[in-house]
Amino acid sequence: MERVDFVRSVEVKASYDVIVAGSGPAGICAAVAAAREGAKVALVERYGVVGGNLTAGYVGPILGMVGKGTMRDEIVSLLGVPENDMIGVTGKAHDFERAKLLLARFVNHPNIDVYLQTIVVDVVKEGSSITGVVVSGGEGLFILAAGVTIDATGDGAVSYLAGAQTEKGRDDGLMQPVTLEFTISGVDDSRGVICIGDVDDVKLGEERFLDYCKRLSVEGYLPEKIAAVRLHPTTKSGERQVNTTQVNGVDMTRVEEIFAADLELREQIALLTDFFHNHLPGYENCRVISSGTTTGVRETRRVIGDYVITAEELALGCRFEDVIVHRAEFIVDIHNPEGAGQAEEHIQYCKPYDLPYRCFTPKGIENLYVAGRCISGTHRAHASYRVMSICMAMGEAVGVAAAMCRAEECTPRNLDVKKLQNRLTEKGIELYG
Ligand SMILES: Cc1cc2nc3c(=O)[nH]c(=O)nc-3n(C[C@H](O)[C@H](O)[C@H](O)COP(=O)(O)OP(=O)(O)OC[C@H]3O[C@@H](n4cnc5c(N)ncnc54)[C@H](O)[C@@H]3O)c2cc1C
Repeated sequence: MERVDFVRSVEVKASYDVIVAGSGPAGICAAVAAAREGAKVALVERYGVVGGNLTAGYVGPILGMVGKGTMRDEIVSLLGVPENDMIGVTGKAHDFERAKLLLARFVNHPNIDVYLQTIVVDVVKEGSSITGVVVSGGEGLFILAAGVTIDATGDGAVSYLAGAQTEKGRDDGLMQPVTLEFTISGVDDSRGVICIGDVDDVKLGEERFLDYCKRLSVEGYLPEKIAAVRLHPTTKSGERQVNTTQVNGVDMTRVEEIFAADLELREQIALLTDFFHNHLPGYENCRVISSGTTTGVRETRRVIGDYVITAEELALGCRFEDVIVHRAEFIVDIHNPEGAGQAEEHIQYCKPYDLPYRCFTPKGIENLYVAGRCISGTHRAHASYRVMSICMAMGEAVGVAAAMCRAEECTPRNLDVKKLQNRLTEKGIELYG
């Protein structure tokens, strides 16, 4: 393949204590937590809206649990969604349009400069230390210099650009399918089922709803590979959040694969609308009112850190001395990378578990944290901690850590984790017990 050496001088536009790349559930919490600790923060987001999957991805309800006192509680209350249980049986999806405003207000802190429609395209390194990020905006490339950078891109993009070790998917490289979520209105709530996912036994007449879906999929009334039509309630009556389209075998870090996947997902929305109108009682008059502006990505890179956590540890409710996220809880939810439904016949439940500090420090790179779904764990472990409640708590802990590194003039690897834990508990975050 032809290569071109590309050398140019790029302006350093500003310097920050902390740069947060990506404004999903992890990134917004990281930025606000660092800012509240007094750090000067840049929040860099490639889309024109903050929130990641919470807004642009149309993903809800906010699932999973973490210990008391984290920013997760603050955001759930800010978005006005009722308290959820661990896997979302009682969960309602939030209002995505309102969330765009509420989360923009949330990050609108005097210590944060928010750069929207700005993508991190490279990093500046001195030895193994990141000293800044190269970004692309409307005026071209520029550099933001930073003491500490937090990679909350979901894809581990900053870590990858910095040369960190990353892994994708399971041993054969296959990743969980991509999905485009959408919202429908006009459902007759007195007759229209709610189905929260593959563990739901809700019935349609005498038949389990999910068996009905499988049957109609075989008969050709539902898109191939759609075995579970997940229909979450939202905070509004007559609405459902539909998490069910899927395309397998897509690597969303490869731009050449994105358009075909997005097109297929949007075609599936049209087929599902026919299914609702013709084959689902209570849904005869529903209509699609909105969908994600971006394909929903469950899985891409995982950054290898100083510790790689496994699903076996999560299942047992592991405890660590360097805990920074406590009582995280969600099932090992692996949407089948090769076909319909779940990848594993029996869903693995997890006892409330800890996430240790070492999962957030990429091996071999200095002045960099990861937070969110790309932290250091195995494919199966990722399938549990990737949910939004847990990502929010991760972001907050790492945001406080990054601010502390600046105040103490140390690197993440040299930070006294006990001091960090003391600060987190002082803020009211449950870390032990
Ligand atoms: C279809 C689907 C359904 C799901 N269902 C649920 C659910 O019901 N409940 C739940 O709790 N979780 C659910 N999840 C999981 C959850 O949404 C994600 O795992 C979670 O949002 C990850 O948070 P994050 O902050 O790590 O990343 P994201 O939410 O992906 O945010 C990452 C942000 O970084 C930005 N970014 C990426 N690269 C760059 C770059 N180079 N420069 C600048 N910005 C960049 C992105 O634009 C994005 O805004 C679902 C996921 C999918 C895909």
